[in-house]
Amino acid sequence: RTAYLNGTFLPLDEARVPVMDRGFLFADGIYEVAAVLGGRLVDNAAHLARLDRSLSEIGIRNPHTAEEWERLETELATRNGLTEGLVYIQVTRGVAERDFSFPKGAVAPTVTMFTQEKSIVANPLAETGAKAITVPDLRWKRRDIKSVALLAQVIAKQQAAEAGAAEAFMVEDGVVTEGSSSSVFIVTKAGAIVTRPLSHALLPGITRAAVLALAAETGLAFEERLINARELPEAAEAFYTSASAFVMPVVEIDGQTLGDGRPGPVARRLRELYFAFAEGRRS
Ligand code: PMP
Repeated sequence: RTAYLNGTFLPLDEARVPVMDRGFLFADGIYEVAAVLGGRLVDNAAHLARLDRSLSEIGIRNPHTAEEWERLETELATRNGLTEGLVYIQVTRGVAERDFSFPKGAVAPTVTMFTQEKSIVANPLAETGAKAITVPDLRWKRRDIKSVALLAQVIAKQQAAEAGAAEAFMVEDGVVTEGSSSSVFIVTKAGAIVTRPLSHALLPGITRAAVLALAAETGLAFEERLINARELPEAAEAFYTSASAFVMPVVEIDGQTLGDGRPGPVARRLRELYFAFAEGRRS
């Protein structure tokens, strides 16, 4: 596999970041992930806009324009023969003497990219539906920034794995914030699609936004409001969205079966609509 490091394409196992990199010392960095489908990046303009915003929120200069990023990502995907999978961008504040505050002199951000092959469309989990658990949301208060500080998500996802579940829904003050790596939706018994409104409490999911736009275009009613954790077992359906899962139906939460235990019609419909969107549009 080929990776990208600070201007160079090189074998992944030769791509090394120094011990004094602030990403390693402080998790002082930002990342972004976009899907590749049929060799093309999905909704990438939105991902690159979020990358730019995340960097700007923590005062790291964006080293590339959106056009440059897209060219680099496309070249990496091509070099890796990637037709379906993910392209990761990671940008840290760079290498400097260890000190919490920003380095005084001009420090170049560390830029890395790598790809992962993944069957997103023919994902067997989407056929059966995923299991989820709820966990306390242990994260900081600026979850709108796509920071590389992911320890709470690592622990949440491990708890899910140990419970035989694919995702952990994070709960704070009795309400669902989001999945450990996804946006959470429910469909109420009354048929409304519900997801939490954007704020500093959660990441503005790019797939979430596309799914809401597709729902609106299709005339499916949705509400952006807080979801009480107590609503989860009562929901007709649940699903989560992300660049790596697209729309993933959920059939069980904390051991409680939703509906008839199979992916629901709204989740399946939105998954199909998202495929069409992802296949038909480059960015
Ligand atoms: N929330 C969190 C915490 C995430 O890590 C992700 C995955 N990047 C998402 C939501 C979904 O965002 P997107 O649809 O942009 O992948």
